[in-house]
Amino acid sequence: MKSLVQDYIDGVYRDLTGERSGSVADYIPELAVVDPDSFAICLATSDGYVYEAGDSRKKFAIQSISKPFTYALALADRGLAAVATKVDVEPSGEPFNEISLDPVTERPRNPMINAGAITSASLVAGATVAERFERIRRFYSRFAGRELTLNESMFESEDRTGNRNRAIGYLLREYGILEEDPQTTLGVYFRQCSIEVDCRDLSLMAATLADSGVHPVSGDRVLDAGLNERVLSVMTTCGMYNAAGDWVTEVGLPAKSGVGGGILAVLPGQLGLAVFSPRLDEHGNSVRGVRSCRRISKDLELHFMHVS
Ligand code: GLN
Repeated sequence: MKSLVQDYIDGVYRDLTGERSGSVADYIPELAVVDPDSFAICLATSDGYVYEAGDSRKKFAIQSISKPFTYALALADRGLAAVATKVDVEPSGEPFNEISLDPVTERPRNPMINAGAITSASLVAGATVAERFERIRRFYSRFAGRELTLNESMFESEDRTGNRNRAIGYLLREYGILEEDPQTTLGVYFRQCSIEVDCRDLSLMAATLADSGVHPVSGDRVLDAGLNERVLSVMTTCGMYNAAGDWVTEVGLPAKSGVGGGILAVLPGQLGLAVFSPRLDEHGNSVRGVRSCRRISKDLELHFMHVS
């Protein structure tokens, strides 16, 4: 017998398949060739149940959803204080790819925009790009509970066209935020964005964050609980870029989106929610993703300010 939750997720999926507004990201050529109609919703509970609707096993690039996880690894490698000297935790109100630093602190405003994410990638321990990337890949894999892999052609596409990110990298180097050749850092960053996930993976990654850093199925402690709390806090204020205010008001869950069309959202202590649909709005957030999360948060009363 199908569960009530499964029926509910199937219903949301059906109701939103007709939503076709927005367009796929095309500034990275490899992102422009994805099927715009792909759609999946997954919900993973903190006791390890996963409910899936639609294309839940279809692979796509994690893109900016990588940012909270690399930030987490940088925190684990260097500690809160050292990371804080390099990247702030203030919402920027700017697009994700803005070429700017905070004029007063001369640091990236937060780790969820590209400037801060490139900085986090520079703080991950490891002697070479390959070693650092491998540590990142393994770390994300523990959140997902399976081995994640790099999509080489996505990486090449991103590397070939990533001049805006290079501009950010050189700005960071000029201000001493990066302490290495920006090309090295970008070699790590472009690869982390090109790791492939499916919607089910994202829901389990979200559920691990919901479970204070413990994977709900494997029981693996992936992240220290205090650092996990820091990551969720930054996702709450900065995860949806310049739509963060609207998101917190309407959905009320720490979240992160990526231009590959994924969104993950976390209800601490309870569940991880993930949506995949590649058509994006003007902020670079999945249109169906935002609509699904709004709807699910309202229907199930998930907003973190909700008192029942
Ligand atoms: N790799 C993309 C970039 O750096 C990630 C952006 C995103 O998903 N918002 O531009």
